[in-house]
Amino acid sequence: MLNKRKFYINGEWVDPIKPYDCNVINPSTEENCAVISIGSKEDVNVAVKSAKDAFNDWAFTSKEEKIKLLETLYSNYKKRWADFANAITMEMGAPKDFATKLQAGTGASHMKSFIRYLKNFDFEKPLGEHAPNQRLLYEPKGVCALITPWNWPMNQVCLKVMPALSAGCTMVLKPSELAPLSSMILAEIIDETKFPPGVFNLVNGNGETTGNALTSHPDIDMISFTGSTRAGALISKNAANDFKRVSLELGGKGANIIFKDADPEAVERGATRCFRNSGQSCNAPTRMLVEKPIYKETVDKLIKFANDFKVDDPTKEGDHIGPVISETQFNKIQSLIQKGIDEGANLVAGGLGKPDGLNKGYYVKPTVFTDVKNNMEIAQTEIFGPVLSVIPFETEEEAISIANDTTYGLTNYIQTQDQNKVQRVARKLRSGMVDVNGAGIAVDAPFGGFKHSGIGREAGQDGLLEFLEVKSVGGWS
Ligand code: NAD
Repeated sequence: MLNKRKFYINGEWVDPIKPYDCNVINPSTEENCAVISIGSKEDVNVAVKSAKDAFNDWAFTSKEEKIKLLETLYSNYKKRWADFANAITMEMGAPKDFATKLQAGTGASHMKSFIRYLKNFDFEKPLGEHAPNQRLLYEPKGVCALITPWNWPMNQVCLKVMPALSAGCTMVLKPSELAPLSSMILAEIIDETKFPPGVFNLVNGNGETTGNALTSHPDIDMISFTGSTRAGALISKNAANDFKRVSLELGGKGANIIFKDADPEAVERGATRCFRNSGQSCNAPTRMLVEKPIYKETVDKLIKFANDFKVDDPTKEGDHIGPVISETQFNKIQSLIQKGIDEGANLVAGGLGKPDGLNKGYYVKPTVFTDVKNNMEIAQTEIFGPVLSVIPFETEEEAISIANDTTYGLTNYIQTQDQNKVQRVARKLRSGMVDVNGAGIAVDAPFGGFKHSGIGREAGQDGLLEFLEVKSVGGWS
């Protein structure tokens, strides 16, 4: 079992002030794979002080110096790529190939992308030709608390650490206590890259003690949080006391509207996007809305597809899915599947219990419910498991209305060959992102949600702007 009890504070690996062990459980074996420490309020105080002390120098470090360090960091990330992938497989059960290409891969893509945005960003610029003596200065927001979940660990961490460093902010990262190991490798390469001490700090811990201490700390200027809507609301309340800036990336319950002229791969592509990462993606299309004339053939396709969908040990190569993160999450998914049955939805594939031959590990069967009504709990609650709800519709207006009838608004999906319909529907969907015919959302496109899916945007230029305050100066010549 790995000993990962130390925190990274002020450029050094240090012991927690009071020992407080927490085991990291490998979800495919149900065994402890590492031990970390839960940071106390006192540990958080030391880390925040170190970030605060480093802020004045880092905020005024030149763009050229920051680019040099970030390019070295990116190069060090690539050298440790396999270590990141292995850690992610161990901590959250992403299968080897998926962990390598997508989980570790998205972290690298964000690094590359933010370096490009930093190079092209003007931190000082005139308001416009009409006002030659008015200048806009973009300045770092200050000391940031970065709090991340376990489902896409390096994606989420790099979406915060990279723009924060680029902006000139200093930070304390608290990764999920369920999947902290990849973040500790990131701290190792930040150390190796020789960022000034205190610019980046890592304190492990849970939400209740460590997260709460961070988000209520008076010297934290900004909180960037990704996680559940429940925790997002608690964090916003803490932040309101002293007007901390808050950026929240929360849950989703995406609709995938399959019109009768959808391309032949649309149904399988949609189910794959729902099941991949074992259903643990905030932007997963978990409600498939199907136009009535193709409803029956779509259901037939889905039954076969879900029954053939492979679930297996994440240490094996291949395109299967692995377990879900924890026993708690496994039980929550089981109870929601039971709820779907009780509410009268039609269970046509998967269901309760573990897939054959996988008795150890938190494995869930790829599950499909048909004839789901949008007011059922399985259509409204973010299940965060490989569970698809299929809902029939008759008209375009009805599809839009069902898609928007949710408290969430993260990503919706449209499948049709008719570009006029694409544009009409895309304009009416109340979500931060709309993915059409499997085109995908670019790595640097603004990522974030409407409604309960969050506040603010990550990635690309919008992601960098989240970490900057704008100052207007008049009389600049
Ligand atoms: P979670 O909210 O339980 O935990 C997320 C992080 O917040 C963890 O580090 C946790 O320790 C911390 N935390 C929990 N309670 C806290 C509190 N009161 N104060 C401060 N910190 C606290 O969520 P999770 O189960 O780890 O992640 C799954 C959720 O994340 C899902 O709802 C998913 O949709 C969402 N998510 C959203 C996006 C997005 O970009 N919109 C991306 C990925 C995941």
